[in-house]
Amino acid sequence: MIEMRNVSKTYANGVPALHSIDVVIEKGEFVYIVGPSGAGKSTFIKMIYREERPTEGSVFIQGSDIGKLKEKQIPYLRRKIGVIFQDFKLLPKLSVFENVAFALEVIEEPRDVIRQRVMEVLDIVHLKSKARFLPDELSGGEQQRVSIARAIVNDPHVVIADEPTGNLDPETAWEIMDILEDINRRGTTILMATHNQSIVNTIKKRVIAIESGRIVRDEWRGGYGYER
Ligand code: ADP
Ligand code: ADP
Repeated sequence: MIEMRNVSKTYANGVPALHSIDVVIEKGEFVYIVGPSGAGKSTFIKMIYREERPTEGSVFIQGSDIGKLKEKQIPYLRRKIGVIFQDFKLLPKLSVFENVAFALEVIEEPRDVIRQRVMEVLDIVHLKSKARFLPDELSGGEQQRVSIARAIVNDPHVVIADEPTGNLDPETAWEIMDILEDINRRGTTILMATHNQSIVNTIKKRVIAIESGRIVRDEWRGGYGYER
């Protein structure tokens, strides 16, 4: 499903971020990416949705080398990958419904299809009753749930989450994890970069640890393994 072969990344300013990464992530897995700040976690994640390109090696999504995609094919790749950020990145002037509907409007789905699908995903994140609210009328946890709904509305194969609980209080963070686990049980692969030690140590999943741009540990049902 996701495969990196000998992937290295050095940024344009000469900063090395990843070295010779080899990894395979199968369909349906739930994987934590852990490691100290600056280790390369975000860079690793950005390779998968082609926000950044490797300076060496290849990234394959469902067998196709995404480095070889033409510019106009990239939107199709992004539709297969839902992305969730620490700071939500919602459009502030659009309602919850409109924020989630946006990705479907872009591909010109019929209105009734859009309405049904948006309400379906708002149900998954328990926000049907807030469809008409604006983002700043919601708590942080609710805003993150909107961003999860937006990430899954196209029914992607993979959801990538970069520190999704980083701006949330502990209790709200656990609610977000319940929802991500639910989405994973429905068959979506999940990749989550996190600093949240108690989540990683409690909800046991595969753990890929990155340090100085290299994978230093890859364990099924691993632990966080770092002091903060
Ligand atoms: P993490 O997510 O683990 O904190 P990053 O992937 O963000 O790590 O960063 C890895 C390294 O690459 C760091 O040294 C960081 O400063 C550097 N880096 C990240 N993004 C850029 C960029 N756009 N340009 C130059 N260097 C970058
Ligand atoms: P949190 O504990 O995550 O900070 P809040 O205390 O901000 O949550 O919010 C609790 C409830 O009040 C949530 O259901 C949220 O939707 C609602 N709420 C918070 N701020 C507003 C607002 N400005 N307008 C309407 N509802 C709000």
